[in-house]
Amino acid sequence: RKKIGVLTSGGDSPGMNAAVRAVVRMSIARGCDAFAIYEGYDGLVRGGDLIKQLYWDDVRGWLSEGGTLIGTARCAAFRSHEGRLQAAKHLVQSGIDALIVCGGDGSLTGADLFRSEWPSLITELVNNGSLTKDQVEPHKFLTIAGMVGSIDNDMSATDVTIGAYSSLHRICEAVDSIGATAFSHSRAFIVEVMGRHCGWLALTAGISTGADFVFIPERPPVGSAGKTWEDDMCDSIQRRRHRGKRETIIIVAEGAIDAELEPITPGYIKELLVNRLSIDTRVTTLGHTQRGGVPCAFDRILATLQGVEAVEAVLSSTPDTPSPMIGMNENKVTRKALVDAVNQTKAVAEAIGRKDFRRAMELRNTEFEA
Ligand code: ATP
Repeated sequence: RKKIGVLTSGGDSPGMNAAVRAVVRMSIARGCDAFAIYEGYDGLVRGGDLIKQLYWDDVRGWLSEGGTLIGTARCAAFRSHEGRLQAAKHLVQSGIDALIVCGGDGSLTGADLFRSEWPSLITELVNNGSLTKDQVEPHKFLTIAGMVGSIDNDMSATDVTIGAYSSLHRICEAVDSIGATAFSHSRAFIVEVMGRHCGWLALTAGISTGADFVFIPERPPVGSAGKTWEDDMCDSIQRRRHRGKRETIIIVAEGAIDAELEPITPGYIKELLVNRLSIDTRVTTLGHTQRGGVPCAFDRILATLQGVEAVEAVLSSTPDTPSPMIGMNENKVTRKALVDAVNQTKAVAEAIGRKDFRRAMELRNTEFEA
């Protein structure tokens, strides 16, 4: 009987519980045992009570729960060889032969590294007497599948990540509420949203709420003929105000930068509006409200379909197939090589670092075969 472990890692995102539920129930439906590893990679490194078998009824009601009920963590120990050695020992001792990781690009990088090191880790564990040859014999290979749980939607090779639409929905509600008070007082609001180095949340929130301006890392603002972007922004806001628009909403991604890669902060934009246009301006940082709350219907569906696919992927995986990342492309659940997806995601950041913004956008969208 195959034993499939599932863990959530990195920042939590709405829909992770739906993903775990789908993995647990699909594993059972396919005749396997399902294990939850609590507290992300910490659970693997520490073992013991943090690795528990889950049954069908254990995950009842999880579809609509926000956050992750099996916990998540940033685990420094798993970045070290010693930590991964402990993790391998605990996996073998629990009899788990396949691992499904739901997390961001960091978590999936760690998962891929773990799988590539697996043969040498178990050899080391036999050599140092932690495990016997008989114990490791059925665990010569570790099968891994990645599911992307992240509100940032920053992973290449998938159109969407689990949690992004729930977060977007929460941002829209907040901006709508702010819009009402902005209108009442004729104020400007600068709303900072999450997304780290990715502008997806800011951009889609701007489109969804009809914001006046959006600042994202992938497209730093540039001024038109002989003007700075600051001049252009102020001119445009003034024009709209002269036409009778009472409220101004500007959305700034937390990673927004200018063409020189310097951060564009909400405080700086506020100064411009106050000093140049004398507009009563407030800054709102939405913070962790963007992460919390119940997952929207889309994230529940996405996580469920991908959880099913992740179990199918580990069941059909062979030592020669690369670890798959379960994605979504053009409305279809897909499998891509995890290592390629992770590398391409890193290449986006590198392209931005050398001011090649066009390439960064191409890399986000480029398709490749698994
Ligand atoms: P989010 O996008 O929400 O921040 P993430 O998965 O990218 O999620 P990270 O903090 O980068 O979050 O990674 C989560 C955990 O994955 C780390 O704490 C660490 O345990 C593991 N991890 C990340 N990168 C590596 C790596 N290169 N090698 C081994 N483990 C890693």
